[in-house]
Order: sequence, then C-alpha cells, then structure tokens
Amino acid sequence: MTDIKFLATDFDGTLSSPQTDNLAAMLEFRHLLFRCRSSFQTRWAVITGRHVECLEELATELAMQGLCPDYLVMEDACIFKRHSGRYSSYWWWNFTVGRRRVKQLAAYRGRVQALLDETLVRYPGTENLAERRIMDFWLRFRNEADAAVVEQYLLKEFAGVREMFVFRWGREVCLAPTAGTKGEAVQKLAAEIGIGREGIVTIGDGQNDISMLDGSCASRPAAVANATPEVIATVKRAGGYLAEKPCVQGVVETLRTFTGWSR
Ligand SMILES: [Mg+2]
Repeated sequence: MTDIKFLATDFDGTLSSPQTDNLAAMLEFRHLLFRCRSSFQTRWAVITGRHVECLEELATELAMQGLCPDYLVMEDACIFKRHSGRYSSYWWWNFTVGRRRVKQLAAYRGRVQALLDETLVRYPGTENLAERRIMDFWLRFRNEADAAVVEQYLLKEFAGVREMFVFRWGREVCLAPTAGTKGEAVQKLAAEIGIGREGIVTIGDGQNDISMLDGSCASRPAAVANATPEVIATVKRAGGYLAEKPCVQGVVETLRTFTGWSR
C-alpha cells in the first residue's frame, strides 16, 4: 500500500450515472474519502468536461451528497479551488488554456463550420450547444444512433489531426481543440501541491479521461467497468487497475484495492 496524496475522479459516468441508484456506494465513497484524508492528507479533484457555467450546479450536486472536493476542474482543464466554502478560479491558468484552444481552433474553423452546417441540414431537430463555447461543433442529436453515425464520420474526417478530438456523450457529439487536457490539469495541481506521480490516483471512464489515465501523470490510473474499450486498453497498458464494478461502485472498489482497506 502506498499513500494516496492526490485523487482525481471524473464525474459523469464515473461518480455519477443516471441509470443506477448509487446512494449506498456514494456513502461508502464518502467514508473512504474521509479515511484517505485523515491517513494521507489526500486532496481530491473532480475533473469534468462540463462547461464552466455548470460549476455552481455541480458543486451543489456534490454538496447535497455531502461531498466537497478541494478542486473542481471544468471543461477538462479549467481549475477552481475551494476556499472558504466557495470555488475561485485559477484565472491566469484558465485564461491561457482558453487562448491555446482558440488558437488551435482557428486553423480548422472553415472545415468545422462546413461540417456543422452540413450536419444540421442532414439531421433536422438537432440542437446546437456550441454557442459561446470555445468549440464550434457541439450538437445534441434526437437519438443516440444518429449521434453515433456522426461520431464515426468525424473520427474518420479528423483521423491523424492532433489538434482536434471527437467526443460523444450519449446523444451529444463535440469536436474540440485538444489544448488543455485533464492530464495537464492533474500535472499542474500535482506540481503546485508538490507531489510526484507515485502519489496520484486517477479514475475515469471516457475518451476525455485518457490523458490522465495513460500513466504519464499518475502511477495508479484506474477505469470503472463501464469505461470505453479505448480507456480500458489505455489503463491496461499503463499497468493500472480495471474495476469489475461500474461507476461509483468501481471507484469504491479501486480505492479499497489501492489502500488495502477491506470492508
Ligand atoms: Mg465520464
């Protein structure tokens, strides 16, 4: 057993799932967090792809379950630190993440706009969620099948393009600049707290978690059972832990395995 100095968990699909009632597992997770905190002084970050505008909503959602992470990381890389019960922005870091993304996107703006126009015509009733976001392509389709078709099409169109990545969450598909990843956010926080990768545990399930699960920033990455095949392959390659249980039950299983604490 080695100390867990820093724990980074994804939110949607990892701590939270609309399909299952996870109350008992959530209470167990909370208990393990308290134990980690008193044993190792563990800092905890929830790292999500949700937009910055959802910060208050997410903080409330967590607080209602008695959970107060030390950090909330929004849009994969924009950091907010809890201080006196509120979350304040790492504004310079967050500004530089945004600036890098705008720069990357600029090179592909014409191509992305053409794809967006074409997709909106082909799939009537699709909602455009990209307004005011640093990405031009973020759509919510009427059904998951359409979203999956467009996801596959975009993956082919942008194969080999390192500056852009394709991400699907249920009926939503987005095409976003790669600058500012979850892995970068973990590295930034680890450097600030002053801990090496051996003290870091990262847990996730989706495409945008790969940068913090590939072993580069954390020595102990883990995937919950409902993770995508690519995520599972990444964690396996990094020598991390593959939970047998999904979502927060998988998180609990992971923490019990890494700490050696049985029930
Ligand atoms: Mg997820």
